Amino acid sequence: MIVSNNRDLLQMQIQDLIISSEKVAHVQVGNNAEHALLVLTRTGYSAIPVLDMKYRLQGLLSMKMITESILGLEHIEFERLSDIKVDDIMDEQVGVIKNTETFQRALDLVINNAFLCVVDEDNTFVGILTRRVILKQLKKYVYST
Ligand code: AMP
Repeated sequence: MIVSNNRDLLQMQIQDLIISSEKVAHVQVGNNAEHALLVLTRTGYSAIPVLDMKYRLQGLLSMKMITESILGLEHIEFERLSDIKVDDIMDEQVGVIKNTETFQRALDLVINNAFLCVVDEDNTFVGILTRRVILKQLKKYVYST
């Protein structure tokens, strides 16, 4: 109720909350699953964006998608990792938001997504917006009202 009555927070632009693309771990279309597994393991992130050569968003890749792709009947077939391309196993259903959108739109979308990929008007990837950042902003507001 406190929040729903406040237009300032809900109408706020998300620009300042974005983790910019240069700080975001990602893989590229054409990379193999072995490389993706290394990136996911080293960074500790559960899922990362898949981008094309022009930095346009193509999908999301998680550890679960990699594991499932090498699951055999009896054992995990690690030797197949280098033959699998990330674009063949990524999820194309990505939570996306435009960099010109409002906090309200982001709040709606992070209910079902741990993070949102942020794109500009040309659909170029500009960074991510995490649920953690949205909740922190909300907390700051709620505690100060
Ligand atoms: P956090 O709210 O920081 O726990 O992040 C939630 C999720 O957002 C992580 O598990 C990753 O999937 C993604 N994420 C957060 N920060 C980054 C980053 N710098 N690079 C890639 N993915 C990230």
